[in-house]
Amino acid sequence: MGNFRKLQKCRLCSGEFYKTSVKLLDSPLANELYPSREQSLVADTFALEIVMCTDCKHIQLRHIVDPGRLFSDYIYASGTSATFKNHFYKLAEKIADLIPGGIALEVGSNDGTLLEALRDHGIVTIGVEPSEYLAKMSQSKCDFIYHDFLNETLCREILEKHGPLDLVVGNNVFAHIDDLMAAFKNVTELLKTDGYFVFEVAHVLSLVQNHLFDTIYHEHMSYHSVTSLKPLLSKIGLNLIEVEEIETHGGSIRVICQKSSTKSTTSDTIKNILAKESFAKLESDDWIPEFNDYMKVLLQKTNAAISDFPGNTIWFGYGAPAKAVTFINEFNLVSLNIRGIIDDNPEKQEKFLPVSGIGVVSKDQLLKEIVGYPSKSEFACIIFPWNLSEEIVEKLPSLDGKTFRAVWFLPTFKERRINK
Ligand SMILES: [Zn+2]
Repeated sequence: MGNFRKLQKCRLCSGEFYKTSVKLLDSPLANELYPSREQSLVADTFALEIVMCTDCKHIQLRHIVDPGRLFSDYIYASGTSATFKNHFYKLAEKIADLIPGGIALEVGSNDGTLLEALRDHGIVTIGVEPSEYLAKMSQSKCDFIYHDFLNETLCREILEKHGPLDLVVGNNVFAHIDDLMAAFKNVTELLKTDGYFVFEVAHVLSLVQNHLFDTIYHEHMSYHSVTSLKPLLSKIGLNLIEVEEIETHGGSIRVICQKSSTKSTTSDTIKNILAKESFAKLESDDWIPEFNDYMKVLLQKTNAAISDFPGNTIWFGYGAPAKAVTFINEFNLVSLNIRGIIDDNPEKQEKFLPVSGIGVVSKDQLLKEIVGYPSKSEFACIIFPWNLSEEIVEKLPSLDGKTFRAVWFLPTFKERRINK
């Protein structure tokens, strides 16, 4: 076992946890891919459990793995997906309307897709990105890039060089930060009075309603609800202006707040989301037993769907996001003898998923692997990034004229015959 700590109290407010929890099987680190199958088979595993604070209602991982290990080789590049590119272009328009000609900083700027779109709209852009690989990728797409975590020292440096900022944005990053309070405080420090803080995080409401257990993995430390975010932001001097529900990652929220001492009234949209969260029982741990019961049903349903396939089916996969690792591990998909998972990100190719040892390959490599099978064999392709289903169908390879079935297990089982 590597470095991790087990929380006894809430990471945000030191409150007690409810007794019930969502406990998945011990799992390897979802983004830790290995150069050889031998190494991948003996990858470390860590407990994977989410708990909820009785006090601030923050839903969180109980076991926090050392962030240095979690993120040092982070290779998820958002620009590889057309859906994300589109999403960020629209967000850039919105931000440009809020701060025309202003200066904006992106925390966790990834491959620079959003920064580039912002610069196109006349915004002065600053990126902060801890991954060296991604920081390099974004260098030409923004005005300034800092290869680091957004810590106090870097905040001072940025303030000295650029002065207080009009806006800070962070997408799919604040669920992955251990010391979330410090991160929010640092962001607030960077802003001028009335400056905006815009961030997008996966919405725990979608996780709970759609039983998206595969979005639980070690990098994903916080599972945000508006119920818990509203008082937290207010505590650090941020006024919640608006929350939008967006499609990203199967259901996320875009939170817009402002550094201001005057309290704004709660918008109707926010009231509506709070009501939905209350209906989903997210104000206490009442949602947890139902979630756990459904996990058992889902396992049965998945096994039943798999057993309907002929025993000689040749399985492969498309897309190797972090959630594939949780899914394969929790539902023991190793038994399917998956021949490989195609991923378009070259940084992931020719590597192996931890513990399952499944290879991540290019389209061509997979075709070489399976083309020799007789044409009467059945082929099935599991789509792991189920949230990108339409885009993925277009990208699925032609199997040399062979028909195959594209299969989704989440949120509910569906399949489509593909013949290209
Ligand atoms: Zn708490």
